[in-house]
Amino acid sequence: MLEAILSLGGVGFFAALALGFAARKFAVEVDAREAAILEVLPGANCGACGFPGCGGYARAVASGAVAPELCPPGGPETVARIARIIGVAAIAVDPQVAVVICQGDQQRATEKYRYLGISDCRAAQKLADGPKTCPGGCLGLGTCAAICPFGAITMTDQHLAVIDRDKCVGCRKCVEPCPRQVIKMTPRSVSVHVLCNSHDKGALVRQYCQVGCIACQLCKKVAPEAYVIEDFLARVDYRHAVKPTAGVEVAIEKCPTHCIRDDNPPPAPVPDEKPAPQAA
Ligand code: SF4
Ligand code: SF4
Repeated sequence: MLEAILSLGGVGFFAALALGFAARKFAVEVDAREAAILEVLPGANCGACGFPGCGGYARAVASGAVAPELCPPGGPETVARIARIIGVAAIAVDPQVAVVICQGDQQRATEKYRYLGISDCRAAQKLADGPKTCPGGCLGLGTCAAICPFGAITMTDQHLAVIDRDKCVGCRKCVEPCPRQVIKMTPRSVSVHVLCNSHDKGALVRQYCQVGCIACQLCKKVAPEAYVIEDFLARVDYRHAVKPTAGVEVAIEKCPTHCIRDDNPPPAPVPDEKPAPQAA
């Protein structure tokens, strides 16, 4: 009995010695700054920085391989904290928020055909360029909502993607997968947007969408510094619309198709009317 206890104890002792030696020999040096950066990152592991997770990004920043401002979920505060850790001057970041620039849901915009395939906008787009008559309108099958790691995108009952600006961290993951390029990144400091993605002429837009931009120029007339019309589509000039002027607000009121919206305060509902049937 005593022999067995002694031999087991001996085996345990030597195993512990071997493990201790291996731990020292093969220990991976952890940069203290890497650990500190990992501590201040949000831990979302969303990949918006271009790395598979926060750990990879922390390592890359600590080694000086990448800039410290590539984590949108962290925002300016995280960038400032990382800058302090690695000893560089604070870097100004312009927080962004994603916006679906379309209001043409199933009530307000027409379809060329009824799509009955899998619920994926990219698949629908491959079928005769998608069911929506408007070439730039949201297809409403929720590919973006399935991709958003922060639950910021919901689909309305009438099949339109809507982004909650309080939940959106500006990671951009929804932008590229949208086959209609209808999700745009915008400065968080601006809440006024033209919600249309069609470059068709106004007469054609009127045939398929009751809330599309018809490029009537009215917004540009009342607030020339804030609106730009390009290729039959109005857009907000974000450089000059940070502080909405009276003209910006007047344009929102006067837009005949209600396609300009101020997300702050929340938008008033747009009247639901079926668009006029298309000319044969
Ligand atoms: S925004 Fe794009 S991806 Fe999202 S539902 Fe609309 S078409 Fe699909
Ligand atoms: S809405 Fe788009 S940009 Fe905003 S958090 Fe979701 S995926 Fe990222």
